[in-house]
Amino acid sequence: MDTDKLTKIVSMCRRRGFIFGGSEIYGGLSSVWDYGPFGAKIKKRIKDLWWDHYVEKRDDIVGLDSSIIMHEDVFKASGHLAGFTDSLVDCPKCKKRSRVDMLEKEDTTHYICECKNVIDITVNKPRKFNLMFKTNVSATEENPVYAYLRPETAQGIFVNFANVLNTVHKKLPLGIAQIGKSFRNEVTTGSFIFRMKEFEQMEIEYFVHPNDADKMYEYWVKERYSFYTDKIGLKKENLRLRPHTADELAHYARGCTDVEYMFPFGWSELEGIANRTDFDLKQHSEVSRKDLSCFSSAENKKFIPYVIEPSAGVDRTFFAIICDAYDEETVNDRTRVVLRLKPYFAPYRAAVFPLLKKNDELVNIAKNLFYDIRNKMPATYEDTAGIGKLYRRQDEIGTPFCITIDGDSLKDQKVTIRDRDTMLQERVSIDQVVVYIEQKSI
Ligand code: ATP
Repeated sequence: MDTDKLTKIVSMCRRRGFIFGGSEIYGGLSSVWDYGPFGAKIKKRIKDLWWDHYVEKRDDIVGLDSSIIMHEDVFKASGHLAGFTDSLVDCPKCKKRSRVDMLEKEDTTHYICECKNVIDITVNKPRKFNLMFKTNVSATEENPVYAYLRPETAQGIFVNFANVLNTVHKKLPLGIAQIGKSFRNEVTTGSFIFRMKEFEQMEIEYFVHPNDADKMYEYWVKERYSFYTDKIGLKKENLRLRPHTADELAHYARGCTDVEYMFPFGWSELEGIANRTDFDLKQHSEVSRKDLSCFSSAENKKFIPYVIEPSAGVDRTFFAIICDAYDEETVNDRTRVVLRLKPYFAPYRAAVFPLLKKNDELVNIAKNLFYDIRNKMPATYEDTAGIGKLYRRQDEIGTPFCITIDGDSLKDQKVTIRDRDTMLQERVSIDQVVVYIEQKSI
């Protein structure tokens, strides 16, 4: 575990307004985080990129925005009520409660707690803990009607399968894509936004004829890997595909591959791509007694589609982008922290600084330039500190270009553009600035 890098990233995220602790002024809530002004911008860009790539640019996938609160029977059918549990064990020495599967194993009955105490699970027996959040949707406390916050967006897709199929007039293969919040009462702490109680997912349920399922599963594994390398731009050396072994697979799944990222605490899951067979639609069709089958005219019979599920986490993608971009270098004996974000993800593409903020003519030029840039791309205008401090702030939030307007700008109508990564500066005519930034923002 690279604790040093993790600590630095967490500190930078808080200091620069990417992530704050949830309900922080009241002492916070464990594994609950809020996105600050710059974090919210990056998060939105991740979701926009995914939605545009899969929903807007493809004919075989449609979007959905289903509700978070769902009927109890949904989770009876899906198996979450009975089986969505973690096995937890209390350490008799430090009293910490941990997930058994997260502890280091000494042998089949002995696990090592974080405090290094060895826990004998035949003595300290693990208990099952359901991860779902239950809520009362009736108007009275006396006659409660329980519903649940969804632990994955997928169930909203399955229960709407027939609604969507009957309204979009499309044939299989058909994907239904959804971005939204999911809730799991996770007990682990210390992994920053990697494991949260409230998080966001980007899921596609891609419905296919059973004969096409294996081929489409292979397709989606490749497609999702290349999305992370080509679209998100994560470094290849920090990404890998890990097919699940037979004993890891859910009983209904025919295949599952995780896309893993090298986080500061080691290789961990960014996304899972699974061939879930016809399990989900069959279960919902049995419990709801609604027909969720399709008709094959080639075979002249009905069938329940198989589903391939690429299920990604928005927050883990965000975390990976920040880890990939975080860099430190020594400049003039000082440490420069720089977030080498792809321009698309940077909260601001450019920052404009007037060097003489008391000179009205110069400020006027700077403001007009700023408005021109902001018409085309996210930008900021800053005059609240000295130039060194302003550069440092923008480097840490990943702004690719800083533009200074100085006394000479009044004479030659040129400004200085500083490149975030190389720190090289170039004089550019004011009327060429927008084009310059657009051309360099690839
Ligand atoms: P893990 O094994 O890490 O708990 P999982 O296999 O339970 O993950 P899935 O149910 O496959 O996760 O969910 C799909 C994706 O949703 C994950 O790959 C991850 O990106 C995201 N995700 C799941 N649980 C959380 C969480 N508690 N916090 C943040 N993201 C999550």
